[in-house]
Amino acid sequence: MTLSTADQRKLESFWQHCVTHQYFNIGYPESADFDYSQLHRFLQFSINNCGDWNEYSNYLLNSFDFEKDVMTYFSELFNIALEDSWGYVTNGGTEGNMFGCYLARELFPDGTLYYSKDTHYSVAKIVKLLRIKCRAVESLPNGEIDYNDLMAKIAADQERHPIIFANIGTTLRGAIDNIAIIQQRLQQAGIARHDYYLHADAALSGMILPFVEHPQPFSFADGIDSICVSGHKMIGSPIPCGIVVAKRKDVARISVEVDYILAHDKTISGSRNGHTPLMMWAALRSQSLADWRHRIRRSLDAAQYSVDRFQAAGIDAWRNKNSITVVFPCPSEQIVKKYCLATSGNTAHLITTPHHHDNRMIDALIDEVIAETQLTAWQSGKTSKRAAG
Ligand SMILES: *Cc1c(COP(=O)(O)O)cnc(C)c1O
Repeated sequence: MTLSTADQRKLESFWQHCVTHQYFNIGYPESADFDYSQLHRFLQFSINNCGDWNEYSNYLLNSFDFEKDVMTYFSELFNIALEDSWGYVTNGGTEGNMFGCYLARELFPDGTLYYSKDTHYSVAKIVKLLRIKCRAVESLPNGEIDYNDLMAKIAADQERHPIIFANIGTTLRGAIDNIAIIQQRLQQAGIARHDYYLHADAALSGMILPFVEHPQPFSFADGIDSICVSGHKMIGSPIPCGIVVAKRKDVARISVEVDYILAHDKTISGSRNGHTPLMMWAALRSQSLADWRHRIRRSLDAAQYSVDRFQAAGIDAWRNKNSITVVFPCPSEQIVKKYCLATSGNTAHLITTPHHHDNRMIDALIDEVIAETQLTAWQSGKTSKRAAG
């Protein structure tokens, strides 16, 4: 590859930018502590996982063997037998959510999809692309779906085949929709188990809940029909990716025959990334379940540490159970910009992914928020004193 001097300089300065900001991320849930150097040499190959990893493909440069291992891992993690499940490595949480919604729509073509107002924005794209009828449901103050509003809307719509898009960890508040309550309420409303579909969006928390002592319900054993997780979030990856797991009997309905690769394609893309399954595989193989439990414990501890520090300074910060997302009052624009925080209304959040386990950036951010809060309190105290005098 020959690049002009100017282009080389451009690349070099981007390299420096990446090195400088490698661990910048505290407002988004992407772990940055990964090391895939053992896989770098595979970048010289055009690896393509077009089609189904479970079938023969005459495209020889595929990493199906590794993808199979990854899907075996997740079927165990989410309590479904591999032979009863079907899933694949996606381009990220959004594709997994789309896959789940696509299956649901094939099962219930006239069903309405219900999702809470705290749901990730990608669901809006998905329902448009798939032309699914949908209804936004109110959220509770902690970010969970409002179960009463959900049932009221299903009743008002006289919906007989609801498709429930459940958040297993919302983006902004890490809230987990209680799928046990949802199922109980559906049953009370006379909607039988085979008449609704339950998709779990576990983009971040899908790699947290399996490793905590008292998880909220989230798996196939708890009654879900499909689940997606992002690979570049809790696991960490240089290329966005994810996984989706669904029930094999549901997936059989969407299979498309492709004669020129001698396979049945059930995935959403044609060509699929063959490198990301290798990365997921290496990430999952190199850490035992005990390692994962430890890693998650440390992130949860860092989140609690952040809540405690804020609260000790009189700042109203909180987090949901089993969540590494710490919600606090939105600071000034200057702090939001400096730390690239995501904000929503009058709240912001920080996310204690593993590259923050040394607490350095967490402390720096909290110090600044506390200093600013105290300054504002002091200034308003001065003004009110002046007004009183
Ligand atoms: C990040 C996120 C998504 C989207 O996942 P991508 O991997 O970015 O496509 C979906 N849902 C939730 C709850 C998320 O946090």
